[in-house]
Order: sequence, then C-alpha cells, then structure tokens
Amino acid sequence: MGGGLVTRFAPSPTGWLHLGHAYSALFAARAAAGGRFLLRIEDIDPNRCRPAFADALLEDLAWLGLAWDGPVRRQSAHLADYRAALDRLAGLGVTYPCFCSRAEIAAEVAAAAHAPHGPDGALYPGTCRRLSRAERDDRLASGTAHALRLDSAAAAALTGPLTWADRGHGTVAVDPARFGDVVLARKDVPTSYHLSVTVDDHLQGVTLVTRGADLIPATDVHRTLQALLGLDVPTWHHHRVLTDAAGTRLSKRDRSRTLRALRDHGTTAADVRAMIDGLAGAA
Ligand code: GLU
Repeated sequence: MGGGLVTRFAPSPTGWLHLGHAYSALFAARAAAGGRFLLRIEDIDPNRCRPAFADALLEDLAWLGLAWDGPVRRQSAHLADYRAALDRLAGLGVTYPCFCSRAEIAAEVAAAAHAPHGPDGALYPGTCRRLSRAERDDRLASGTAHALRLDSAAAAALTGPLTWADRGHGTVAVDPARFGDVVLARKDVPTSYHLSVTVDDHLQGVTLVTRGADLIPATDVHRTLQALLGLDVPTWHHHRVLTDAAGTRLSKRDRSRTLRALRDHGTTAADVRAMIDGLAGAA
C-alpha cells in the first residue's frame, strides 16, 4: 500500500495539541505509507481559533518528528473556495437561508412532542425551510443575519442512496435524516466545518481521510456534499478516540496531557510516541 495515497491531519487551533491529537496525527502520517501526508489548519472560526495555537501546533508536530508534504493549508485563507461551493449548492436548490436564533430553535424543539435528535442534539425543526418566498425575500432584503442550511430531503432526492467506504467499518449507508438540515454557512462565519472539510479534501487531493470515530456521523453529510458538488470521493479510516486507562477521553481540557506540558516535564518525543502506542494498543 502507499504510493498514491494522500492523507491529512486537520486540527483546529483552539487549544494546545494533546495526546489524542498526536495519536491522530501519527495515524494519518503512518497511513500515508509512503504517499503524501498533508497538514491543514481548520481555523474558520475567529472566535475560537488563535494564531498562537496554530504556531504552537506546527512546533509541536515538528517536535514529535512529523514532517508534512507541501504547504500547510489554512482554511481562513480560502473562504472564496467555500463561497463558490455554496453558490453551486444554491444553484441546485438544496440550500435555504435560516434566520432563527439558537433560542428560537430551542423553544421550537421544546414545544414539539417528539423532536428528532441527531449526533449533535436536536435536529433543526425546519422552520425557515417553510417560509414563503415573499417572507424569505423580505428578510433577506432587510439584511437580517442568516445562516445557510442544507435542505437534506431535497439533497437526498437529488443524490439518491449513497454509501461510503471505511477501512475499519466497511461500507456505511448514508442516512440523510441523521443530521437533518445542517448549517453549511454560519451567521458569523461564511462557511462551516462540514462544507470546508469536504471542499478542502477534494482540492487537496486527499484519497484517505483519517480521523476520530467521533466524526463518523459527519461523514454522511460530507458524502452527500461530495455527490451534490461532483467532488472526488476518498476512502475513510475512522480510528478509535484515544482514552486513558480509566476510559476517559484525552481532551484539550486536560492540560496535563498537552504535548507542551509533557515536553516541559521532560517527556521526549520518543516517550510520547511510546505512550500513544501503549494507549492505542490497550484494550
Ligand atoms: N478540524 C477537526 C477537528 O479538529 C477535524 C476535521 C477532520 O479531520 O475531518 O476535530
């Protein structure tokens, strides 16, 4: 294996890298197996991302002994690519503006007898999908802030049934109702995780997407967007989410597990690699 494989590690610079990130990065680098291993900084959210964290992650990965191929792609520099994809989706009639506030959505969900839930909580109840054209145009004309959502039923009708292939999980059937009408462009950010990750994996020629199993449900959305936009379809390999011996997820909130803290306490890169292999190998 290897040769033409292209993998990537795509962290968001919202904190210091921790052991879980190191595992994910090493997993992607090893999976490239002689092909290309890319690095992408997912910094579309100016409220949560910090340039200092982006600088630090480059330093931490280099300290760990990881070398990536080609230039680092920073999503914040490519908003025009996401805009173009949104325009194409709008042209297909599978997006609509959503003017709802979080509070309005929560109130509507609370009032519903059986609000459907997805991996990230209650699904959007579709309020703005049902606006008349006149109402929609009025609100747009008045400049009301809005997000753009995927009309998941319209999208599924266009794409027909879809599947995606995972090295560990086999063939997975897309369930369009799993995420419902997800946000593709936020009110405060002119794109979203789902849209930018899908567009970038295509533009960067990624052939094997490796990431944590917590993102398995999101892949249904990404596969749908690929079909709508006519993008290349990679293979996926969702790896387990690393936990400590007690089964607790190694998260950014756990400061002791950041690569910086470990390094400051004298842990070497080789030690970190050994710790990761130990944790990953543990049942
Ligand atoms: N930026 C995402 C994260 O840090 C990962 C995206 C992906 O690998 O698809 O969780």
